[in-house]
Amino acid sequence: MSEQMTRLEQGLLHLRRFTDATYAYLMGRQVDELRERWRRTQELMGESIRRVDLHSHTTYSDGTASVAEMDEWRQRTGIDVLGITDHNTLVQADDCRRYPQLLVGEEVTGEHHHVLIHFPESLIMPVHQLAGEVENIRRQQRIPLIAHPTGWMGRVYEATRIDAVRMLSGPFLMEIANGAGNWYDYRDSTDESARGLWDELLLAGIPVIATGNSDAHRGANVGLVWNGVPTAAEDPGAIYQALLSGCGFVSNGPAVVVSADGMAPGSPAIVPQRQLALHIRTADSAGLARWRVVGDGSTVQEGDCGGKTLLDVNLDLPAGHVRSYRVEIVSSDGRQAFSNPFRFSLQSDV
Ligand SMILES: [Zn+2]
Ligand SMILES: [Zn+2]
Repeated sequence: MSEQMTRLEQGLLHLRRFTDATYAYLMGRQVDELRERWRRTQELMGESIRRVDLHSHTTYSDGTASVAEMDEWRQRTGIDVLGITDHNTLVQADDCRRYPQLLVGEEVTGEHHHVLIHFPESLIMPVHQLAGEVENIRRQQRIPLIAHPTGWMGRVYEATRIDAVRMLSGPFLMEIANGAGNWYDYRDSTDESARGLWDELLLAGIPVIATGNSDAHRGANVGLVWNGVPTAAEDPGAIYQALLSGCGFVSNGPAVVVSADGMAPGSPAIVPQRQLALHIRTADSAGLARWRVVGDGSTVQEGDCGGKTLLDVNLDLPAGHVRSYRVEIVSSDGRQAFSNPFRFSLQSDV
């Protein structure tokens, strides 16, 4: 009997390896296409944009790929910086140091919330309470990243769990896109609810920087979604610092770089005049479909991109009563980019 069980287990193991290998083969073709698509998109934009995926797992926790394999997939995707953020451990750190484009982090994994720290000074054990995890990360002078704030693997959390995020003060990073458990594409219902929460927090005046990360547990999922950071820096630490300024965007395809009255998005909040000159530059070598400006969670203006691969949009927007403006782009095949917001101090705040 026990020998039969062993055979069954061996059979299942073979099946799993076969499934993984088939997926990696199919995913690899998509990865190669997307890498080439991005190379041409970046050429169209005419400026240096680094791509960062802040969240992934290896065999040092519950991932299926080694650190070396994760770096191989990172290279194949063309992602510039990959965060290796295993659960409640830093044993991956020594291994990661052999790969200059990997960034060491930890996913502080409590019962109800997962919070990431990058460049940790030392291991943080979870206290199983969101405010506590955030405080312990800030004690190391780091900015916490709230992972999958409204749900995980396609399941939306109950309200009390999401309420804990609403109680936080800024600044913090938050995922508005998370790829965990998804095949070929990061998107599921939890990403939409995370974006709803993002708009809510911005309306409450909380400085939250949006990020999008694969949360890859398999090598083939590295870069399912990523952060575009307009910077010429090459060092992962410098690129990470640029991301922290809030000037970047979350994407799985198009590029979008915005400015308002000549300034990049991010902190500190701008005190607006009555009118704001918004400039949007967007590109996707596979073609652009639509652009949309979101103010305090609602569509302010939108337009057609007519399948162009590069588009500049100049808008004069009313200001003085809106807390934030952000921009969304949809490409011809439905891939999306979300710029980080311009946040405004209102007269009523003073
Ligand atoms: Zn998690
Ligand atoms: Zn994770």
